[in-house]
Amino acid sequence: MEMEIVTIPCLSDNYAYLLHDGATGATAVIDVPDAAPIEAELERRGWRLTEILITHHHDDHIADVDALRQATGAKVIGAKADAHRLPALDKAVAEDDVVQVGNLEGRVIDVSGHTIGHIAVFFPAANAVFTADSLMALGCGRLFEGSADQMWESLCKLADLPSGTNIYSGHEYTESNARFALSIEPDNRELISRAERVAKARAENEPTVPATLAEELTTNPFLRARLPEVKHLIGRDDATDAEAFAEIRRRKDQF
Ligand code: ZN
Ligand code: FE
Repeated sequence: MEMEIVTIPCLSDNYAYLLHDGATGATAVIDVPDAAPIEAELERRGWRLTEILITHHHDDHIADVDALRQATGAKVIGAKADAHRLPALDKAVAEDDVVQVGNLEGRVIDVSGHTIGHIAVFFPAANAVFTADSLMALGCGRLFEGSADQMWESLCKLADLPSGTNIYSGHEYTESNARFALSIEPDNRELISRAERVAKARAENEPTVPATLAEELTTNPFLRARLPEVKHLIGRDDATDAEAFAEIRRRKDQF
């Protein structure tokens, strides 16, 4: 039986995801902004929740973890580094640890930057990485706790995944991210056509996630900070990759 991933819109612009292993019936949810739509989706599909994966400590990602744990008995997994500010963890993980969802194995990646202790989980067999507020569709999370150097290092780890990997990020911010991306690279044709597809999807209230890593590499200005042509466009030909990233992140904060 197949594995499936279901995108669940929550609150005003968050996403939770169900990852279902058809072979064993195991189902994980990635982040719990709001238990109600997640429970409704589980019920509609007749799936039993077995794991709750937490990406980072912000309230819009963990608000209903305890409610959903109580309702389902699922085990809660999150970063060891964040255990002091997360709901009680049944399993605390760090970089390169393996998270098991039925037969599906996920590798934990430390993607600190937006927060210190933010994790992503990469499931090679599902061709999926859950990135929440680190790498996002056409964007990346704001630097609340980490430095630009830390976020750049995190983005580089994600950029090294297979280019066909689907990036499941935590929010629907893509339309405004596209406007910013075009301010950096107004002549990037892939970006122009992606921005059009994004606008059309949003007009129909369709999610713009996931996107493949290949798409992000050709259109996401934050991942593209390392390219000489992008450094030139921001007037920083001599900048290191991390410095160019920091400059683009600064511009986004003021956009
Ligand atoms: Zn956040
Ligand atoms: Fe968030």
